Amino acid sequence: MPAALSWRHHTLIQALLSRGPLKEDDFRSIFSQVTGKTSGSEQQQLFNEYLRKINAELSYVQFELRACRNQYDGDVYYGVINNISDDQSKFGTKYTVPQIAFYKGIVEAIVQDAEARGSISNTDALNIRLDMQVHGVTDPQSQGGPTHIPPAFKNFSMSHKEKALEQLVKDQWLCSVPDGKIGLGVRSFLDLRSWFRTNEVPACEVCNEAAVKAQLCQNEACNIRLHLYCLKKKFSQKKVQRVCPGCGTKWEVPIVKAEAVDEVDDAPNVPSQNTQPAEHPVKKRRKSYREADDEIVKNDSSLTSATLSNAKRVTRRSVRLSAN
Ligand SMILES: [Zn+2]
Ligand SMILES: [Zn+2]
Repeated sequence: MPAALSWRHHTLIQALLSRGPLKEDDFRSIFSQVTGKTSGSEQQQLFNEYLRKINAELSYVQFELRACRNQYDGDVYYGVINNISDDQSKFGTKYTVPQIAFYKGIVEAIVQDAEARGSISNTDALNIRLDMQVHGVTDPQSQGGPTHIPPAFKNFSMSHKEKALEQLVKDQWLCSVPDGKIGLGVRSFLDLRSWFRTNEVPACEVCNEAAVKAQLCQNEACNIRLHLYCLKKKFSQKKVQRVCPGCGTKWEVPIVKAEAVDEVDDAPNVPSQNTQPAEHPVKKRRKSYREADDEIVKNDSSLTSATLSNAKRVTRRSVRLSAN
């Protein structure tokens, strides 16, 4: 049983819960304020220690403090996510059932994009059909007949969708990307990590995280995807050839603003209780959001209880090794 958290730990948790996912700089600045440690390796060590301790406590209530990258700009964010699968726990009472179904439809449309653009147009988002999100609710009278659509779904009008879209962007479940399209919000990158893995969202060859917004290999027969920030980091090393790590095809590095090239370290990594391996998605059949979620919870809870007494830091390296 870990020692109780101090007011300092609580301040950090509270900041993430009340202000939503925070950019790394902002989160670290709060950390510096509460601990009085402003720089140095000692600070990094203390930071990791704090996160490990917080996660040890949060795991009892199936919450987890995580870091992720915003795949549109490569910035790291910290947030607390809820590992309980039911929608009410994740979204609170703020969102209605059709609003949540609408959100899931948008997420599925974005991650299914074969070109990994990481976004869909506003019009495509508004045209998402909610009846596709009704799983297993069939009318027993008409076997194989049309799925029964709840009235709340049928009555979910275009203006309801527009309103939901606005709220989802505001709450960072979705985001509005520069060209006016709809992308995944930071909250989704944090929250859906396991879901990406249990579905067929191809992973980035460098960091092994889902490549939702990514660059594709020029060779159409090759499935390699790289995040822009990962490929820039990889190809900035002098001895590394600018070719696809899978098939060796020359990889054109897109020229974008200079500041995007900077310090991309390894994938964000938070000391955690959760040692779930980053398995590469190999399952043939696409799972529905709900199915996959249930599975995640099973995995998470068994792993959590098995590792509670043996908290260890999961590094990217160890995750990758165990996945191979
Ligand atoms: Zn990557
Ligand atoms: Zn390739």
